Amino acid sequence: MSVNEKDLHAALKTYFGFNAFKGLQEPVVKSILSGKDTFVIMPTGGGKSLCYQLPALMQEGTAIVVSPLIALMKNQVDAIRGVSDHHGVAHVLNSSLNKTEIKQVKHDITSGITKLLYVAPESLTKEENVEFLRSVKISFMAVDEAHCISEWGHDFRPEYRNLKSIIERIGDDIPIIGLTATATPKVQEDILKNLGIHDAVTFQASFNRPNLYYEVRPKTKNVDADIIRFVKKYEGKSGIVYCLSRKRVEELAQTLQVNGIKAVPYHAGLDAKTRASHQDMFLMEDADVVVATIAFGMGIDKPDVRFVIHHDIPKSIESYYQETGRAGRDGGEGHCLAFYAYKDIEKLEKFMSGKPVAEQEIGHALLQEVVAYAETSISRRKFILHYFGEEFDSETGEGADMDDNMRHPKKQHEAQKNVLLLLETVSKTNE
Ligand code: ADP
Ligand code: MG
Repeated sequence: MSVNEKDLHAALKTYFGFNAFKGLQEPVVKSILSGKDTFVIMPTGGGKSLCYQLPALMQEGTAIVVSPLIALMKNQVDAIRGVSDHHGVAHVLNSSLNKTEIKQVKHDITSGITKLLYVAPESLTKEENVEFLRSVKISFMAVDEAHCISEWGHDFRPEYRNLKSIIERIGDDIPIIGLTATATPKVQEDILKNLGIHDAVTFQASFNRPNLYYEVRPKTKNVDADIIRFVKKYEGKSGIVYCLSRKRVEELAQTLQVNGIKAVPYHAGLDAKTRASHQDMFLMEDADVVVATIAFGMGIDKPDVRFVIHHDIPKSIESYYQETGRAGRDGGEGHCLAFYAYKDIEKLEKFMSGKPVAEQEIGHALLQEVVAYAETSISRRKFILHYFGEEFDSETGEGADMDDNMRHPKKQHEAQKNVLLLLETVSKTNE
């Protein structure tokens, strides 16, 4: 399908109310409309959803969107329904639907009303669904959060592994769109390979977040007091504090509360109602701070998060980037502070000891990068971007002075020591 600029902008305005495309959206939309396999790498908040929603709305047939989280799918479907006269323009197909609902979904697809069908990968493995989808017109297949397909990603999901063979069964000339906020070369390679789209047109946005300030502090037994002092400087502002364990989340949330900070805990051990209510409190600003495990954050779009603190260092640079990426979405200040002690790394290593050897090796290599990041004395922004395969000039690049190492360079001998440590780590990683 070929469209002119005017129609494209008109559709953008009509469906989404936006006057302009963001970043690489326009060329991505054009690539999808022309029927090419397309690979989109954009940081979180970059506007990936629109990249497939707009072409889906403009084309004949139904676009299948694979997405890992039911909650995320529901949000997107509700948003799309809001821009159309037809409730049936978007549907979710999953195991929670009853017979009547399934019949309605199928009816809407067959009659050409449904432009977007969101499915969880496990629903796609159901024979009856595959059979049905084979028989209708599919415009393209979008795999959102495509890094879930890779063991090197930060959120590997085994159900994603079979996608390629299922897609082929639904139709072998359906264009495939992969989208992710993960840019490590290893994960990219896995995505292209596992989706079978080697020749995909690739669009990669920069991962630099110039408004985020990166800082690492040594973690001592006074870490709680350090956090309280930090948070108090941001009174009335929103922030997230990540901890490794549920227990620590509960304790720290309480400590903050006792110290007059409006904090709520969030972790997968809380019941769904409490989780939803704490999340809402944060979004509505009845709570300023969420103390959370990594269960919190995916798909949460609060633009004015002013700080992200890591009470415990995460298990990869990738996770760190994703989690800190929730700060400063509005372009304003975003302070990313990580507390680091080597014994936390040892703890993480220990956690992995029960896992298969291959997994342990991956986990170990990822952790070594985290150590190198925490202990480096070079530009932290340069370090992170290098990890994502991106060049960054730490003197002149955008946001060049936005980290502790650049603002307060370590003394010469300290720096030397760090370089040696880094070299040691690198050579170990390469062994
Ligand atoms: P991602 O999936 O890449 O993390 P989303 O698709 O969730 O990003 O979009 C992030 C935010 O950007 C959303 O609030 C969305 O409404 C907004 N957005 C997307 N495209 C545009 C645009 N062209 N103009 C303005 N805002 C946009
Ligand atoms: Mg997204």
